[in-house]
Amino acid sequence: MRSLQPVRGTHDILPEQSLRHRHVTETARTIAGQYGYAEVATPIFEFTEVFKRTLGDASDIVTKEMYTFESRSGEEITLRPEGTAGIVRALISGGLGQNLPLKFFYQGPMFRHERPQKGRLRQFHQFGVELLGVGAPLGDIEVIAMAAQILDALGVGESTTLEINSLGDPQSRKAYRDVLLGYLSDLKDKLSEDSRNRLAVNPLRVLDSKDEGDKRVLADAPLFSDYLTGEAAEFFSAVTAGLDELGIAYALNPKLVRGLDYYCHTAFEFTTEALGAQGTVLAGGRYDGLVSAMGGAETPGVGWAAGIERLAMLIADAPGAQRPIAVVPVGGGAETAAFNLAQELRRDGFTVDIGYGGNLSRRMKRANKLRARLAVILGEDEIRAGTVTVRDLDTGEQEEVALRGLRDHLAPWR
Ligand code: ATP
Ligand code: MG
Repeated sequence: MRSLQPVRGTHDILPEQSLRHRHVTETARTIAGQYGYAEVATPIFEFTEVFKRTLGDASDIVTKEMYTFESRSGEEITLRPEGTAGIVRALISGGLGQNLPLKFFYQGPMFRHERPQKGRLRQFHQFGVELLGVGAPLGDIEVIAMAAQILDALGVGESTTLEINSLGDPQSRKAYRDVLLGYLSDLKDKLSEDSRNRLAVNPLRVLDSKDEGDKRVLADAPLFSDYLTGEAAEFFSAVTAGLDELGIAYALNPKLVRGLDYYCHTAFEFTTEALGAQGTVLAGGRYDGLVSAMGGAETPGVGWAAGIERLAMLIADAPGAQRPIAVVPVGGGAETAAFNLAQELRRDGFTVDIGYGGNLSRRMKRANKLRARLAVILGEDEIRAGTVTVRDLDTGEQEEVALRGLRDHLAPWR
Protein backbone atom coordinates (compact mmCIF):
# COMPACT_ATOMS: atom_id res chain seq x y z
CA MET A 1 0.00 0.00 0.00
CA ARG A 2 1.76 3.04 -1.26
CA SER A 3 0.39 5.47 1.30
CA LEU A 4 2.08 3.45 4.06
CA GLN A 5 5.53 4.05 2.60
CA PRO A 6 7.52 7.05 3.73
CA VAL A 7 7.36 9.79 1.09
CA ARG A 8 10.30 9.52 -1.32
CA GLY A 9 13.31 11.39 -0.02
CA THR A 10 12.14 11.36 3.61
CA HIS A 11 13.36 9.01 6.30
CA ASP A 12 12.56 7.92 9.82
CA ILE A 13 15.30 8.71 12.27
CA LEU A 14 15.30 5.60 14.44
CA PRO A 15 17.09 5.40 17.80
CA GLU A 16 20.57 4.46 16.57
CA GLN A 17 20.51 7.18 13.92
CA SER A 18 19.00 9.59 16.42
CA LEU A 19 22.03 9.22 18.66
CA ARG A 20 24.27 10.19 15.77
CA HIS A 21 22.13 13.20 14.88
CA ARG A 22 22.03 14.25 18.47
CA HIS A 23 25.77 13.92 18.85
CA VAL A 24 26.21 16.23 15.84
CA THR A 25 23.76 18.85 17.06
CA GLU A 26 24.81 18.74 20.72
CA THR A 27 28.46 19.16 19.76
CA ALA A 28 27.61 22.06 17.46
CA ARG A 29 25.30 23.62 20.05
CA THR A 30 27.91 23.48 22.79
CA ILE A 31 30.59 25.07 20.64
CA ALA A 32 28.25 27.72 19.20
CA GLY A 33 27.34 28.53 22.81
CA GLN A 34 31.02 28.98 23.66
CA TYR A 35 31.21 31.57 20.89
CA GLY A 36 28.27 33.41 22.43
CA TYR A 37 25.70 32.37 19.82
CA ALA A 38 22.14 31.87 21.03
CA GLU A 39 19.61 29.44 19.64
CA VAL A 40 16.64 30.66 17.64
CA ALA A 41 13.87 28.67 16.01
CA THR A 42 11.88 30.23 13.21
CA PRO A 43 8.76 28.54 11.78
CA ILE A 44 9.14 25.60 9.44
CA PHE A 45 6.96 27.40 6.90
CA GLU A 46 6.88 31.00 5.76
CA PHE A 47 5.14 32.99 3.09
CA THR A 48 6.62 31.90 -0.22
CA GLU A 49 7.68 35.49 -0.82
CA VAL A 50 10.25 35.23 2.01
CA PHE A 51 12.22 32.62 0.08
CA LYS A 52 11.65 34.12 -3.34
CA ARG A 53 13.11 37.39 -2.15
CA THR A 54 16.08 35.91 -0.32
CA LEU A 55 17.01 33.16 -2.72
CA GLY A 56 16.14 34.99 -5.94
CA ASP A 57 13.60 33.99 -8.57
CA ALA A 58 16.26 32.31 -10.68
CA SER A 59 17.86 30.08 -8.04
CA ASP A 60 17.56 26.30 -8.30
CA ILE A 61 15.81 26.21 -4.99
CA VAL A 62 13.10 28.65 -6.03
CA THR A 63 12.61 27.37 -9.56
CA LYS A 64 12.75 23.64 -8.89
CA GLU A 65 13.01 22.64 -5.28
CA MET A 66 10.45 24.38 -3.11
CA TYR A 67 7.53 22.69 -1.40
CA THR A 68 4.93 25.35 -2.01
CA PHE A 69 1.23 25.12 -1.36
CA GLU A 70 -1.78 27.27 -0.88
CA SER A 71 -3.12 27.24 2.66
CA ARG A 72 -6.83 26.84 3.35
CA SER A 73 -7.09 30.59 3.66
CA GLY A 74 -5.45 31.09 0.27
CA GLU A 75 -1.97 32.10 1.45
CA GLU A 76 1.06 31.06 -0.59
CA ILE A 77 3.15 29.05 1.86
CA THR A 78 6.50 27.27 1.45
CA LEU A 79 8.21 24.74 3.68
CA ARG A 80 11.58 26.27 4.43
CA PRO A 81 14.36 25.04 2.12
CA GLU A 82 17.06 26.69 4.25
CA GLY A 83 17.43 28.69 7.45
CA THR A 84 18.81 32.12 6.64
CA ALA A 85 15.67 33.54 5.01
CA GLY A 86 13.53 32.93 8.09
CA ILE A 87 16.12 34.46 10.39
CA VAL A 88 16.44 37.58 8.26
CA ARG A 89 12.64 37.82 8.12
CA ALA A 90 12.57 37.52 11.93
CA LEU A 91 15.22 40.23 12.22
CA ILE A 92 13.09 42.59 10.18
CA SER A 93 9.62 41.69 11.43
CA GLY A 94 10.73 41.53 15.06
CA GLY A 95 12.72 44.75 14.95
CA LEU A 96 15.81 42.90 16.16
CA GLY A 97 18.08 45.22 14.21
CA GLN A 98 18.15 47.55 17.22
CA ASN A 99 20.47 45.18 19.03
CA LEU A 100 23.24 44.42 16.60
CA PRO A 101 25.42 42.49 16.45
CA LEU A 102 23.25 39.38 16.71
CA LYS A 103 24.75 35.94 17.00
CA PHE A 104 22.27 33.19 16.27
CA PHE A 105 22.36 29.46 15.69
CA TYR A 106 19.51 27.22 14.59
CA GLN A 107 18.84 23.61 13.87
CA GLY A 108 15.98 21.74 12.29
CA PRO A 109 14.40 20.20 9.22
CA MET A 110 14.61 21.72 5.74
CA PHE A 111 12.64 20.70 2.66
CA ARG A 112 13.77 20.60 -0.96
CA HIS A 113 12.17 18.74 -3.81
CA GLU A 114 15.33 17.38 -5.42
CA ARG A 115 16.33 13.98 -6.74
CA PRO A 116 16.86 11.75 -3.71
CA GLN A 117 20.18 9.91 -3.51
CA LYS A 118 22.79 9.12 -0.89
CA GLY A 119 23.25 12.29 1.16
CA ARG A 120 20.48 14.10 -0.71
CA LEU A 121 17.04 14.01 0.84
CA ARG A 122 13.80 15.90 0.47
CA GLN A 123 13.49 16.40 4.18
CA PHE A 124 16.90 16.83 5.73
CA HIS A 125 18.30 18.69 8.72
CA GLN A 126 20.69 21.56 9.07
CA PHE A 127 22.60 23.19 11.85
CA GLY A 128 23.54 26.76 11.02
CA VAL A 129 24.87 30.02 12.42
CA GLU A 130 24.33 33.64 11.43
CA LEU A 131 26.35 36.64 12.58
CA LEU A 132 24.43 39.83 11.79
CA GLY A 133 25.73 43.36 12.03
CA VAL A 134 29.45 42.67 11.69
CA GLY A 135 30.91 43.85 8.41
CA ALA A 136 34.57 43.28 9.29
CA PRO A 137 36.67 40.27 8.19
CA LEU A 138 36.82 39.23 11.84
CA GLY A 139 33.22 38.07 11.48
CA ASP A 140 34.11 35.76 8.59
CA ILE A 141 37.08 34.44 10.52
CA GLU A 142 34.98 33.78 13.60
CA VAL A 143 32.26 31.78 11.88
CA ILE A 144 34.80 29.75 9.90
CA ALA A 145 36.85 29.07 13.03
CA MET A 146 33.68 27.94 14.79
CA ALA A 147 32.85 25.58 11.92
CA ALA A 148 36.38 24.15 12.00
CA GLN A 149 36.19 23.64 15.75
CA ILE A 150 32.87 21.82 15.46
CA LEU A 151 34.19 19.53 12.73
CA ASP A 152 37.30 18.83 14.81
CA ALA A 153 35.20 18.04 17.86
CA LEU A 154 33.19 15.61 15.75
CA GLY A 155 36.41 13.95 14.67
CA VAL A 156 35.97 14.84 11.00
CA GLY A 157 38.36 17.80 10.83
CA GLU A 158 41.03 15.63 9.21
CA SER A 159 38.74 14.22 6.55
CA THR A 160 37.33 17.57 5.43
CA THR A 161 38.90 20.40 3.46
CA LEU A 162 38.02 24.05 3.81
CA GLU A 163 37.63 25.57 0.36
CA ILE A 164 37.38 29.32 0.17
CA ASN A 165 36.92 32.06 -2.39
CA SER A 166 36.06 35.72 -2.61
CA LEU A 167 33.08 37.02 -4.53
CA GLY A 168 34.25 40.56 -3.93
CA ASP A 169 32.03 43.60 -3.63
CA PRO A 170 29.28 44.61 -6.10
CA GLN A 171 31.82 46.45 -8.26
CA SER A 172 34.16 43.45 -8.56
CA ARG A 173 31.20 41.29 -9.23
CA LYS A 174 29.95 43.39 -12.08
CA ALA A 175 33.38 43.51 -13.69
CA TYR A 176 33.81 39.76 -13.43
CA ARG A 177 30.28 39.01 -14.54
CA ASP A 178 30.85 40.90 -17.76
CA VAL A 179 34.09 39.11 -18.69
CA LEU A 180 32.68 35.74 -17.71
CA LEU A 181 29.57 36.36 -19.77
CA GLY A 182 31.78 37.28 -22.73
CA TYR A 183 33.87 34.14 -22.34
CA LEU A 184 30.92 31.80 -21.91
CA SER A 185 28.82 33.36 -24.69
CA ASP A 186 31.55 32.47 -27.19
CA LEU A 187 31.43 28.85 -26.03
CA LYS A 188 27.69 28.68 -25.61
CA ASP A 189 27.30 25.66 -27.93
CA LYS A 190 29.50 23.57 -25.68
CA LEU A 191 27.47 24.28 -22.54
CA SER A 192 24.70 22.11 -21.12
CA GLU A 193 21.15 23.28 -21.57
CA ASP A 194 20.93 24.18 -17.87
CA SER A 195 24.01 26.33 -18.11
CA ARG A 196 22.82 28.01 -21.32
CA ASN A 197 19.68 29.00 -19.47
CA ARG A 198 21.65 30.24 -16.49
CA LEU A 199 23.89 32.28 -18.73
CA ALA A 200 21.08 34.67 -19.47
CA VAL A 201 19.93 35.01 -15.87
CA ASN A 202 23.15 34.80 -13.87
CA PRO A 203 26.37 33.69 -15.55
CA LEU A 204 28.14 33.24 -12.20
CA ARG A 205 25.96 30.28 -11.46
CA VAL A 206 27.39 28.43 -14.44
CA LEU A 207 30.63 28.15 -12.45
CA ASP A 208 28.75 25.91 -10.04
CA SER A 209 27.77 23.39 -12.73
CA LYS A 210 28.49 19.73 -12.08
CA ASP A 211 28.12 18.81 -15.79
CA GLU A 212 31.35 17.34 -17.21
CA GLY A 213 31.10 19.25 -20.49
CA ASP A 214 30.55 22.48 -18.62
CA LYS A 215 33.53 21.73 -16.41
CA ARG A 216 35.75 21.44 -19.52
CA VAL A 217 34.53 24.81 -20.74
CA LEU A 218 35.10 26.31 -17.30
CA ALA A 219 38.65 25.00 -16.98
CA ASP A 220 40.00 28.01 -18.89
CA ALA A 221 37.45 30.57 -17.73
CA PRO A 222 38.67 33.89 -16.36
CA LEU A 223 39.07 33.91 -12.58
CA PHE A 224 37.16 36.05 -10.13
CA SER A 225 40.32 36.78 -8.18
CA ASP A 226 41.71 38.74 -11.15
CA TYR A 227 38.78 41.14 -11.06
CA LEU A 228 38.58 41.99 -7.38
CA THR A 229 38.78 45.68 -6.55
CA GLY A 230 41.64 46.72 -4.27
CA GLU A 231 39.28 46.91 -1.32
CA ALA A 232 37.75 43.51 -1.97
CA ALA A 233 41.19 41.95 -2.34
CA GLU A 234 42.23 43.52 0.94
CA PHE A 235 39.15 42.17 2.69
CA PHE A 236 39.88 38.69 1.42
CA SER A 237 43.51 38.76 2.43
CA ALA A 238 42.48 39.87 5.93
CA VAL A 239 40.24 36.79 6.13
CA THR A 240 42.91 34.38 4.94
CA ALA A 241 45.53 36.03 7.18
CA GLY A 242 43.18 35.50 10.13
CA LEU A 243 42.81 31.84 9.24
CA ASP A 244 46.60 31.51 8.89
CA GLU A 245 46.98 33.11 12.29
CA LEU A 246 44.66 30.50 13.80
CA GLY A 247 46.37 27.65 11.99
CA ILE A 248 43.21 26.80 10.03
CA ALA A 249 44.21 25.22 6.71
CA TYR A 250 42.27 26.11 3.56
CA ALA A 251 42.42 25.64 -0.18
CA LEU A 252 41.66 28.55 -2.48
CA ASN A 253 38.96 27.51 -4.93
CA PRO A 254 38.36 30.21 -7.54
CA LYS A 255 35.33 28.31 -8.90
CA LEU A 256 33.47 28.38 -5.61
CA VAL A 257 30.48 30.68 -6.01
CA ARG A 258 27.14 31.42 -4.54
CA GLY A 259 24.95 32.54 -7.37
CA LEU A 260 22.88 35.08 -5.56
CA ASP A 261 23.43 38.77 -5.87
CA TYR A 262 23.52 39.61 -2.21
CA TYR A 263 26.43 37.25 -1.53
CA CYS A 264 29.74 39.03 -1.40
CA HIS A 265 33.30 38.64 -0.21
CA THR A 266 33.90 35.32 1.49
CA ALA A 267 32.33 32.09 0.22
CA PHE A 268 33.42 28.79 1.73
CA GLU A 269 32.65 25.11 1.94
CA PHE A 270 33.97 22.23 3.96
CA THR A 271 34.08 19.22 1.66
CA THR A 272 35.00 15.57 1.99
CA GLU A 273 35.90 12.75 -0.36
CA ALA A 274 34.28 10.26 1.97
CA LEU A 275 30.66 10.73 0.94
CA GLY A 276 30.83 10.28 -2.82
CA ALA A 277 29.10 12.88 -4.97
CA GLN A 278 27.46 14.69 -2.05
CA GLY A 279 30.73 15.88 -0.57
CA THR A 280 29.83 19.28 0.89
CA VAL A 281 29.11 18.99 4.60
CA LEU A 282 29.02 22.67 5.48
CA ALA A 283 28.68 25.77 3.33
CA GLY A 284 28.45 29.47 3.96
CA GLY A 285 29.47 32.97 3.16
CA ARG A 286 28.96 36.66 3.60
CA TYR A 287 25.63 38.19 2.57
CA ASP A 288 25.85 41.92 3.21
CA GLY A 289 23.10 42.79 0.74
CA LEU A 290 20.49 40.35 1.98
CA VAL A 291 18.76 42.19 4.80
CA SER A 292 18.28 45.31 2.73
CA ALA A 293 17.16 43.27 -0.28
CA MET A 294 14.40 41.94 1.97
CA GLY A 295 13.34 45.40 2.99
CA GLY A 296 15.31 45.85 6.22
CA ALA A 297 18.02 48.34 7.07
CA GLU A 298 21.45 47.83 5.52
CA THR A 299 22.92 45.07 7.74
CA PRO A 300 25.99 42.99 7.00
CA GLY A 301 25.81 39.28 7.69
CA VAL A 302 27.88 36.13 7.47
CA GLY A 303 26.99 32.55 8.30
CA TRP A 304 26.93 28.92 7.31
CA ALA A 305 24.79 25.81 7.37
CA ALA A 306 25.85 22.21 7.83
CA GLY A 307 23.99 19.13 6.66
CA ILE A 308 23.32 17.02 9.75
CA GLU A 309 22.66 13.78 7.83
CA ARG A 310 25.93 14.15 5.93
CA LEU A 311 27.84 14.78 9.15
CA ALA A 312 26.06 11.89 10.87
CA MET A 313 27.25 9.60 8.06
CA LEU A 314 30.78 10.88 8.41
CA ILE A 315 31.33 10.53 12.15
CA ALA A 316 32.81 7.25 13.30
CA ASP A 317 30.54 6.50 16.22
CA ALA A 318 28.24 8.50 18.38
CA PRO A 319 28.55 7.99 22.09
CA GLY A 320 26.03 5.26 22.94
CA ALA A 321 22.95 5.74 25.05
CA GLN A 322 23.42 5.56 28.82
CA ARG A 323 23.62 1.90 29.85
CA PRO A 324 20.63 1.12 32.08
CA ILE A 325 20.37 -0.69 35.35
CA ALA A 326 17.92 -3.59 34.96
CA VAL A 327 15.55 -4.22 37.83
CA VAL A 328 14.55 -7.88 37.77
CA PRO A 329 11.80 -9.31 39.98
CA VAL A 330 11.87 -13.03 40.68
CA GLY A 331 8.33 -14.37 40.91
CA GLY A 332 4.98 -12.62 40.66
CA GLY A 333 5.04 -11.54 44.30
CA ALA A 334 8.04 -9.31 43.70
CA GLU A 335 6.61 -7.44 40.68
CA THR A 336 5.12 -4.51 42.52
CA ALA A 337 8.12 -4.01 44.78
CA ALA A 338 10.40 -4.15 41.72
CA PHE A 339 8.34 -1.59 39.83
CA ASN A 340 8.34 0.73 42.84
CA LEU A 341 12.09 0.31 43.25
CA ALA A 342 12.63 1.14 39.55
CA GLN A 343 10.56 4.30 39.96
CA GLU A 344 12.54 5.34 43.04
CA LEU A 345 15.84 4.84 41.27
CA ARG A 346 14.66 6.82 38.23
CA ARG A 347 13.62 9.68 40.45
CA ASP A 348 17.10 9.50 41.94
CA GLY A 349 18.64 10.03 38.51
CA PHE A 350 19.49 6.45 37.51
CA THR A 351 18.65 5.06 34.07
CA VAL A 352 16.51 2.04 34.77
CA ASP A 353 14.82 -0.62 32.67
CA ILE A 354 12.28 -3.07 33.96
CA GLY A 355 11.20 -6.06 31.88
CA TYR A 356 7.46 -6.14 31.46
CA GLY A 357 7.00 -9.84 32.01
CA GLY A 358 8.49 -13.30 31.74
CA ASN A 359 10.61 -15.43 34.01
CA LEU A 360 14.05 -14.68 35.40
CA SER A 361 15.97 -15.99 32.39
CA ARG A 362 13.86 -14.07 29.90
CA ARG A 363 14.30 -10.88 31.86
CA MET A 364 18.04 -11.40 32.14
CA LYS A 365 18.17 -11.86 28.37
CA ARG A 366 16.41 -8.58 27.93
CA ALA A 367 18.84 -6.92 30.34
CA ASN A 368 21.78 -8.19 28.29
CA LYS A 369 20.18 -7.11 25.04
CA LEU A 370 19.82 -3.59 26.41
CA ARG A 371 23.49 -3.71 27.41
CA ALA A 372 22.45 -3.12 31.01
CA ARG A 373 25.40 -2.43 33.26
CA LEU A 374 23.95 -4.03 36.38
CA ALA A 375 20.97 -6.15 37.30
CA VAL A 376 19.21 -5.52 40.59
CA ILE A 377 17.45 -8.80 41.30
CA LEU A 378 14.80 -9.09 43.95
CA GLY A 379 12.61 -12.01 45.07
CA GLU A 380 9.92 -12.25 47.71
CA ASP A 381 12.27 -13.63 50.37
CA GLU A 382 14.76 -10.90 49.74
CA ILE A 383 12.13 -8.22 49.99
CA ARG A 384 11.16 -9.59 53.38
CA ALA A 385 14.82 -9.54 54.44
CA GLY A 386 15.25 -6.03 53.06
CA THR A 387 18.00 -6.99 50.58
CA VAL A 388 18.53 -7.29 46.83
CA THR A 389 21.13 -9.00 44.67
CA VAL A 390 23.22 -6.71 42.52
CA ARG A 391 24.88 -8.46 39.60
CA ASP A 392 27.59 -6.83 37.53
CA LEU A 393 26.65 -7.90 34.01
CA ASP A 394 30.14 -7.28 32.63
CA THR A 395 32.01 -9.40 35.17
CA GLY A 396 29.23 -11.73 36.36
CA GLU A 397 30.11 -10.97 39.98
CA GLN A 398 27.22 -10.48 42.35
CA GLU A 399 26.59 -9.47 45.91
CA GLU A 400 23.83 -8.98 48.44
CA VAL A 401 23.09 -5.36 49.17
CA ALA A 402 20.77 -3.97 51.82
CA LEU A 403 17.89 -2.09 50.19
CA ARG A 404 18.58 0.81 52.51
CA GLY A 405 22.11 1.22 51.21
CA LEU A 406 21.26 0.50 47.55
CA ARG A 407 21.40 4.07 46.34
CA ASP A 408 24.89 4.61 47.68
CA HIS A 409 25.98 1.28 46.32
CA LEU A 410 24.73 2.21 42.83
CA ALA A 411 25.96 5.80 42.97
CA PRO A 412 29.01 5.20 40.72
CA TRP A 413 26.67 4.20 37.87
CA ARG A 414 24.34 7.12 38.03
P1 ATP B 1 24.50 20.84 -2.86
O1 ATP B 1 25.54 21.45 -3.70
O2 ATP B 1 24.90 19.54 -2.22
O3 ATP B 1 23.15 20.80 -3.50
P2 ATP B 1 23.66 23.26 -1.61
O4 ATP B 1 24.57 24.29 -2.16
O5 ATP B 1 22.28 23.14 -2.15
O6 ATP B 1 24.35 21.83 -1.62
P3 ATP B 1 23.34 24.62 0.89
O7 ATP B 1 22.05 25.22 0.49
O8 ATP B 1 24.54 25.46 0.96
O9 ATP B 1 23.62 23.36 -0.04
O10 ATP B 1 23.12 23.81 2.25
C1 ATP B 1 24.17 23.61 3.21
C2 ATP B 1 24.38 22.15 3.49
O11 ATP B 1 23.16 21.47 3.72
C3 ATP B 1 25.01 21.37 2.35
O12 ATP B 1 26.38 21.56 2.34
C4 ATP B 1 24.64 19.95 2.71
O13 ATP B 1 25.50 19.43 3.69
C5 ATP B 1 23.26 20.12 3.27
N1 ATP B 1 22.23 19.82 2.25
C6 ATP B 1 21.77 20.65 1.28
N2 ATP B 1 20.81 20.04 0.55
C7 ATP B 1 20.65 18.80 1.09
C8 ATP B 1 19.79 17.69 0.81
N3 ATP B 1 18.90 17.74 -0.16
N4 ATP B 1 19.91 16.57 1.57
C9 ATP B 1 20.81 16.50 2.58
N5 ATP B 1 21.62 17.52 2.91
C10 ATP B 1 21.56 18.66 2.19
MG1 MG C 1 21.41 21.96 -3.64
